Amino acid sequence: ITFAALSLADPLLRAIRDTGYDAPTPIQAQAIPHVLQGKDVLAAAQTGTGKTAGFTLPILHHILTQPRPTQQAGSPRALILTPTRELAAQVEASVRLYSQYTRIRSLVLFGGVNINPQIQALKKPIDIVVATPGRLLDHLGQKTIQLKDVETVVLDEADRMLDMGFIRDIRRILKLIPSQRQTLLFSATFSDEIRDLARNALRDPIEVSV
Ligand code: AMP
Repeated sequence: ITFAALSLADPLLRAIRDTGYDAPTPIQAQAIPHVLQGKDVLAAAQTGTGKTAGFTLPILHHILTQPRPTQQAGSPRALILTPTRELAAQVEASVRLYSQYTRIRSLVLFGGVNINPQIQALKKPIDIVVATPGRLLDHLGQKTIQLKDVETVVLDEADRMLDMGFIRDIRRILKLIPSQRQTLLFSATFSDEIRDLARNALRDPIEVSV
């Protein structure tokens, strides 16, 4: 299978061509068609499998092909939650790389740094936010971000987020996102806690595993 066969929008195929990727990885080939169809996906995938592009490319495709009539400040269409600031920064760098030939705007929010530049950045229209749970909740408390326009939410490295004690934060965040959303959960391992979270957060999910 090729990336072109996945019917991704031209600016995305151009960015992929720039990276030099030959073909989709197994997780990409399995997950991308379901994510493009709007299905919830429960994916068993480790770091290094190409999982980031697996959820990022179809999210970008959806935003490109279903544009919003008006630009919304501080109200993203996609939210990607990650356990650590390092992973958040890395995922947002991937979003930027794959969206470089589009006008899609992304922003990363994590703790341990001054919140004010993030607040300023949220005053502009934004399509995709990559965040760690604690700092996202700080912004929600200050009403500097809203989640009412979120169409797709990704729980990346969900097992690590649970290990780090973020389950209550994740549940609080998910409650603020419209229930007709698409939810994608990526995890390297599948404990009872992950299964429980998946049962609560995902609707009729497709399961993929590599
Ligand atoms: P990830 O598992 O998302 O952290 O990605 C691991 C690495 O695989 C990253 O450095 C990506 O740039 C790279 N990668 C992602 N997709 C592909 C692909 N289809 N072909 C080759 N490398 C890829």
